[in-house]
Amino acid sequence: MEITKMFGKRPVMSLEIFPPKGNMSLKSVLAIIEAVIDLCPDFISVTYGAGGSSRELTVEIADIIKNRYGIETLAHLSCIGSTRDEIEALLAELRSKNIKNILALRGDPPQDFDRMIQVKADYEYAKDLITHIKSLEGFYLAAACYPEGHIDCVSLEEDLQFLKEKVNCGVDFLITQMFFDNNLFYNFQEKLAALGIDCPVSAGIMPVVNKKQIERITELCGTTLPPELKRLLSVYENKPEALKEAGIIYASEQIVDLLASGVDGIHLYTMNSPKVAAKVYTNIKNIRGSFTHED
Ligand code: FAD
Repeated sequence: MEITKMFGKRPVMSLEIFPPKGNMSLKSVLAIIEAVIDLCPDFISVTYGAGGSSRELTVEIADIIKNRYGIETLAHLSCIGSTRDEIEALLAELRSKNIKNILALRGDPPQDFDRMIQVKADYEYAKDLITHIKSLEGFYLAAACYPEGHIDCVSLEEDLQFLKEKVNCGVDFLITQMFFDNNLFYNFQEKLAALGIDCPVSAGIMPVVNKKQIERITELCGTTLPPELKRLLSVYENKPEALKEAGIIYASEQIVDLLASGVDGIHLYTMNSPKVAAKVYTNIKNIRGSFTHED
């Protein structure tokens, strides 16, 4: 099913999982899928390792979610350092498994990335990948957006101009980078409206359960940790269970506020922790249910 068609009736609830890395086995990811499927998300997205490192696994996991469990899936696909032939081969594979919803990304250059590879490659920005996929029949496209601006951008205003260009290349809906201050998202929504970017936007929410992990992630992607969240992190730093609970409550409260403000969708970054996702979903169960009944 075309994910875009889910928007508008009620908030679209989605989850993100990533393919196994390090010591993690495919079997353990299958257990994660089974656990999150019980939460009845509208769709599950599957990330794509930097530089295509998880290429086969992304397709395999998306295939399992869609064709074994019957849940709609969004396959992430990044283009940095790839050739058109490589992307077309991957698209053919996705098509053969009836996976039609794609989150089209530029991706991050790997640390040892040689600028020359990029020059020779066929894509510079996500919009180039979007234009390419759009020229083929039968795919539906999502793209990433950044309420605080992308880490490499000169200003949020410039990033928004590039976002408009990207959306105009054929994006059906957007998913945001994680944010921890809803006001940043509401300001972003106003700027999108002012620019005439009117496709649905799912808000990316990450429950914070580990101080070091979130500090590393936010440093990499430039997301602000607001003072109230920093306070939780410092007070509960050495009390892992308390920190986890506090992080889950913080994320749940963000979601409650977003739902009340009429957000198009909530995309939960699960970090492959179904227990955390389940606790967030339990906290918002009745609120989510109140929308479902209006279908
Ligand atoms: P773009 O939209 O191409 O933007 C990249 C940068 O280029 C921005 O600074 C933008 O302002 C600038 N720019 C855009 N167009 C132009 C132009 N015409 N001229 C000059 N500058 C321009 N990464 C992965 O590797 N795998 C994943 O699965 C993955 N999933 C993600 C999911 C979400 C929801 C999000 C928000 C990010 C995800 N990422 C993932 C990270 C993403 O790949 C990085 O943030 C990457 O650096 C940017 O990708 P993009 O598609 O947003 O790039």
